[in-house]
Amino acid sequence: PLKFTKLRLTGFKSFVDPTDLIIHDGLTGVVGPNGCGKSNLLEALRWVMGENRPTAMRGGGMEDVIFAGASSRPAKNFAEVCLTLDNGDRLAPQGFNDQESIDVVRRITRDVGSAYKANGKDVRARDIQMLFADASTGAHSPALVRQGQISELINAKPKARRRILEEAAGISGLYQRRHEAELK
Ligand code: ATP
Ligand code: MG
Repeated sequence: PLKFTKLRLTGFKSFVDPTDLIIHDGLTGVVGPNGCGKSNLLEALRWVMGENRPTAMRGGGMEDVIFAGASSRPAKNFAEVCLTLDNGDRLAPQGFNDQESIDVVRRITRDVGSAYKANGKDVRARDIQMLFADASTGAHSPALVRQGQISELINAKPKARRRILEEAAGISGLYQRRHEAELK
């Protein structure tokens, strides 16, 4: 339901200048020589959807996603990723549903931390994670397959495997809300 239409990276890993990736209908392939930034693109996608585990971002700390500098360019002070979603069918959850498209922005600033906006308004990390959890996508989506993940699934314990299936079925958002309700 929530179609990605554009990914914009600014100061994110090797993408120092603002870079737009237009995502058309159907299959998108990313090709290029080793080290050109293909994996960084996928990490940007996970990150803007709320990924908070540095290990999933191939870095030691959260600020490692910020452009660290190169021989010809000084380091940046912030990294920003904007993911544009098509909401033409108005299926986004309440609070996100007032416009045709949704710009989800995450920005991290050195020594300040990271913050999210949806269509220019401040939102919490949890709101963003829920937005994508309900759409069966998100940072932990089974649609994003890391190297080695297939064998992990095969070797997983039943409980862990069930979580993956729940995410695929789009019910992990419900599960999280029930957990929060039980804590109240
Ligand atoms: P491969 O085909 O080998 O998988 P790839 O296209 O997936 O390569 P990436 O791993 O996305 O390439 O990009 C790696 C490049 O990104 C390296 O040159 C690395 O120095 C650069 N890079 C990663 N993090 C940063 C950062 N914080 N600042 C600057 N450059 C970075
Ligand atoms: Mg790669």
